[in-house]
Amino acid sequence: MSVPKTSLPPTLRFQDLDRAYVAGQWIAGTTTFKVNNPATGELLAEVADLSPEQIDQSIDAAAEALPAWSAKTAHERSAILKKWHALLLANAESLAQTMTAEQGKPLAEARGEVGYAASFLEWFAEEAKRAYGEVIPTAFAGKRYSTIRQPCGVAVAITPWNFPIAMLTRKVGAALAAGCTMVAKPAAETPLCALAIAKLAHEAGVPPGVFNVVTTTRAAEAGEVMCRSPKVRVLSFTGSTAVGKRLYRQCADTMKKLALELGGNAPLLIFDDADIDRAVEGAMISKFRNAGQTCICANRIYVQSGIYAEFTARFTQKVAALKVGNGAEDGVVIGPLISAKAVQKVDRLVRDALAKGAKVLVGGAAHTRGGHFYQPTVLEGIGAGMDILGEEIFGPVAPLIRFETEAEVLAKANDVSVGLAAYVFTRDLSRTIRLTEGLQSGIVAVNDSVPAVAVAPFGGVKESGLGREGGRQGLDEFLDTKYVCIGLA
Ligand code: ADP
Repeated sequence: MSVPKTSLPPTLRFQDLDRAYVAGQWIAGTTTFKVNNPATGELLAEVADLSPEQIDQSIDAAAEALPAWSAKTAHERSAILKKWHALLLANAESLAQTMTAEQGKPLAEARGEVGYAASFLEWFAEEAKRAYGEVIPTAFAGKRYSTIRQPCGVAVAITPWNFPIAMLTRKVGAALAAGCTMVAKPAAETPLCALAIAKLAHEAGVPPGVFNVVTTTRAAEAGEVMCRSPKVRVLSFTGSTAVGKRLYRQCADTMKKLALELGGNAPLLIFDDADIDRAVEGAMISKFRNAGQTCICANRIYVQSGIYAEFTARFTQKVAALKVGNGAEDGVVIGPLISAKAVQKVDRLVRDALAKGAKVLVGGAAHTRGGHFYQPTVLEGIGAGMDILGEEIFGPVAPLIRFETEAEVLAKANDVSVGLAAYVFTRDLSRTIRLTEGLQSGIVAVNDSVPAVAVAPFGGVKESGLGREGGRQGLDEFLDTKYVCIGLA
């Protein structure tokens, strides 16, 4: 396969990533697919497009590698994960530039993601050593009870394009630490980041077959092969709720263990008693990080009436000042959306809201520079029945909703089918306790807008999914508990 003309910076070390990584080998697909820079449209690479049969073979490779990998001591696995972690940090700048080129996020955010992604490898390298079982006080004199925790087996990961490295390391770090082997399928929009990570895994000494990256545009077929295979014992997915539900159904026949990190619809509540500087800053970060393309981005911003006018004026002024452009350029804070389809979806939500009575305070349309750019937007006058309240926006659009009482806003915040993250800005301790307990979400951030971190469990309730990633809990997804009962002679 020839290396195509590319708009990746020529100094990068990840230039030649056009093949999938299976059983420690770089393999071609049955055909190729194009990866383009969402800011410029330029071709970055033509990558191996694997067939469903090749996906199946990669599962075989992971199954073959399993006995030796799971037999290693936790310390041995940990040492390899730590080397991998160090290599991510040593290559942080190249990884970040590759990410900005294929995903579009501003370079500063890409650098941040590389550090965040690496932190999962370090965290799980440590947690590997703490997969404790327990000795259970006996109930009968002649018997002894204990538990041991063992790797589930082969795991598969299906990951999205919005955090192309962190969503992968959050899964593979835990899987490999637990003693599982893994086949990972990155999104077709961002395969280069995943392949770069595979290259570093190889250099770190991850044995062949222990970590495989399969690139394909045939996502549904790949998903079916992965779900149907009896060799696969765990499926860890991050992506849309619709696809998550489909995978859940598909895994029923082989009874896999599932970790599903699906869509959110985060409410951000700002009370009259909030520190307004913090609330404005927090809403900006929560809403506009990654151009609004994160599953924990504030989707609905509820502002109490006493602070509404001041908050709205200050927030809108800041949004109007956001610099939109190619994430590789200095000072840009809002990059492109991932695709033309994403721009159309965001615009549909804005049009629907406007048709039903919402008002534009700033933005309100695709950006005049064209391509995949959307204007940072603030809407007010949001009311029941608008699609923007019920759907994940996944773009730089902030709907503001005025409210009067805590009880009213809590009911509205919870009135959705999903529950991933929620944000509260208040200085009242009792209110904080009532809301952290009352909000139906897997994550509540109080006076903070960046809750995701390797040491804490990330995941949702309701239709936002199953299981937790990161934290002490992240390892559990890849471990089975075995109970041992010994009768004494
Ligand atoms: P998004 O809308 O953010 O792209 P998706 O859920 O469509 O979210 O994609 C997340 C991941 O799921 C990607 O790797 C994508 O290729 C994959 N995917 C999409 N459809 C399917 C499917 N039917 N089966 C398995 N994986 C899928």
